[in-house]
Amino acid sequence: MRLVLLGAPGAGKGTQAAALAEHFGVPHISSGDLLRDQVAAGTELGRRVADRLDRGELVPDGIVTEAVEDALADTPSSGYVLEGFPRTVSQARRADTLHAEGLADAVVLLELADDLARQRLAERAAEGRSDDRDPEVIERRLRRFHAVTEPLVAYYRGRGVLATVDADQPPEAVTVDILAALDAERGAP
Ligand code: AMP
Repeated sequence: MRLVLLGAPGAGKGTQAAALAEHFGVPHISSGDLLRDQVAAGTELGRRVADRLDRGELVPDGIVTEAVEDALADTPSSGYVLEGFPRTVSQARRADTLHAEGLADAVVLLELADDLARQRLAERAAEGRSDDRDPEVIERRLRRFHAVTEPLVAYYRGRGVLATVDADQPPEAVTVDILAALDAERGAP
């Protein structure tokens, strides 16, 4: 199973990706975690992207694509659950040229109203992510999501791989809905 999760910041991509990766027995790959790891390790790449992460700005396509493709190259053939990438249509197009069968067998959109996303991010700020603390940064990330990531919904719908799930539910219920949507997409009884 090669699965991509889409959703606004705060929609629960990280939580759901962890649960689904465990369910399918595949690695969970998060572009945000890959970049934060580089920042924490103080690498050259980390130094180049740290400011953008703090401000909620997107990292240039080339940098994030390389980080994610390196991680994907290390995954077993059983697949992966990927979240945070792609975040722009140009990232998705590039990824589709690099993967003969496309980047994803299925793409799940976690739908959540902006007000609920804001509320969840404010709660998550206590856990220590610096880009969750500043309301201005949160607003920028939500705007970016609508402006440059949401067009991926049409992109993947056009490829016939998109499923949409209501993310305004307890995490376990969202996971159940995602698995049901994937079964329906695969034509399971
Ligand atoms: P996330 O953990 O997915 O919310 O990502 C945290 C931050 O990492 C984002 O605000 C961006 O600065 C950066 N980032 C993560 N994934 C991408 C991506 N696919 N393209 C550009 N920037 C990204």
